[in-house]
Amino acid sequence: MAAKRTLSRVTMLLIMIGLLAPMFPLASEAVTKSQVDEACSDSRAQLEEYRAAQSAFAAAAEEYEVAVIEVDRVERKQETVAGSVDTHSEELDAIQAKIEEQAVELYMRGGLSSPGIIFSASTVDEYMTTSEFLTAAATGGQESIDELIATRTELDRFNEQLGETRVELEEVEAAKLGAKDSQETAMEAEQAAYAKLSGKCKELAAKYDTEQQELKARARQRAAGSVQVGSFICPFTPARTSFINSWGYPRSGGRRHKGTDMFAAWDEPMYAVAAGRVITGSSGLGGKTIWLIANNGIGYYYAHLSGFNVSSGASVGQGQTIGFNGDTGNARGGSPHLHFEIHPGGRGSAAVNPYPTLASACR
Ligand SMILES: [Zn+2]
Repeated sequence: MAAKRTLSRVTMLLIMIGLLAPMFPLASEAVTKSQVDEACSDSRAQLEEYRAAQSAFAAAAEEYEVAVIEVDRVERKQETVAGSVDTHSEELDAIQAKIEEQAVELYMRGGLSSPGIIFSASTVDEYMTTSEFLTAAATGGQESIDELIATRTELDRFNEQLGETRVELEEVEAAKLGAKDSQETAMEAEQAAYAKLSGKCKELAAKYDTEQQELKARARQRAAGSVQVGSFICPFTPARTSFINSWGYPRSGGRRHKGTDMFAAWDEPMYAVAAGRVITGSSGLGGKTIWLIANNGIGYYYAHLSGFNVSSGASVGQGQTIGFNGDTGNARGGSPHLHFEIHPGGRGSAAVNPYPTLASACR
């Protein structure tokens, strides 16, 4: 059970090391939180401007659509009126022809002084105001002719007005198109500005996150003291041990405490903190002891064991149970604990305070 838990811790640790490894080294320029906030705030502000420009463009596009529809409507109306003018002109021509025929007939019967007046008249209006015509008109059609002339005149005037309206509307349409185009250009500029600021915000935020993770990893390393982290695991199952920083505490014979006392249950399994080779030993002070010389040369000293789970000289894997918690040596009669030391230079070199390393690994 303990070995299984230790194995999973090792796996986790390895995964963590793998994840942290690409984050080093630190970028030369560190990103601050306020820089990220500022960039992202700029980006948000620019997004608002872009949205406003989008709305302005949509409004301009709609106004242009309305103008196009209006021009189209007047255009079609003008075409209809022009068609009516043509129809009425044809009717007038037909009636005029009929009257001319009648006038000639009248002349033949001696009723008109001269047919010339009829044929020299250049317009229907002129023709119909001649005194000769009045006689001719008496034979019929005056009322309908008057009506047709009035209608045609009115239609002509209306058509002319429509033409003017159409020109004005076309001017409006052109202006709206111009407004729409410039709004579109403005919108595109705002969009480009937003894309740029948004990219900067994302980039800085990502950079900031990465740097923060790197800083945390470094802080963990610093907390671990002068000894490396990563390839080090807690000598006990973390939840089953307790210890304080007792480095330098006075000990019998004027000695200073050169390790950390890790309290745990009697016979609690203790693990190889790193892969290496073990040397078991026995002494008055340490009782049953193990020197674990890690493959990277660092020496770890275990004391007060109740018993060994390895033979001296054996190679061990990280997390392997190498012994059990006890009170041998000068710990006899006290609470069973592991006296643990770290010697970065290997066996025989000076010890460093193992507390930061343990505190980091045994959380
Ligand atoms: Zn101790």
